[in-house]
Amino acid sequence: MSKHEPISIDAIKAMMNLSDEDLKKPLPVPTAWSQPFWDAAREHRLVLKRCSKCGNIDHPPYLYCTACQADEHEWIEASGKGTLFAYAINYFGVPFPFWADLPYALGMIDLAEGVRMISNIVDCDFEELENGMELEVVFDDVTDEVTLPKWRPVRK
Ligand SMILES: [Zn+2]
Repeated sequence: MSKHEPISIDAIKAMMNLSDEDLKKPLPVPTAWSQPFWDAAREHRLVLKRCSKCGNIDHPPYLYCTACQADEHEWIEASGKGTLFAYAINYFGVPFPFWADLPYALGMIDLAEGVRMISNIVDCDFEELENGMELEVVFDDVTDEVTLPKWRPVRK
């Protein structure tokens, strides 16, 4: 249950004298070594970078394996399953472009593959959020080029 009424983008703009540019959300800027992650997300697939030498999985994807520094790697399909490690619900105190989304939940998600991801927890009542609960990935096409993996509770 929200303690605050949602506020429209137009109301925010008028109240704070903001331009459309001021309200543009920052988007991921892929690096050469993270580009495959974002390409897959756009296809609604979740992939992880696994070291071909030692099998370590890094997320976010790094230039080298953080366990053995090897450069050889492969991209594996993640199961899209995880558990909620921790979460916070933002009610205020976020940059202007996110005001219209308040309140929203941010979570740290432990993926079945052993890495941790930070993203939004969506499609849920905040009251149902609980550390350790099962989550599944969903994909949010925020622009034509950028899709963000987000997470929601698994419905039994
Ligand atoms: Zn390695």
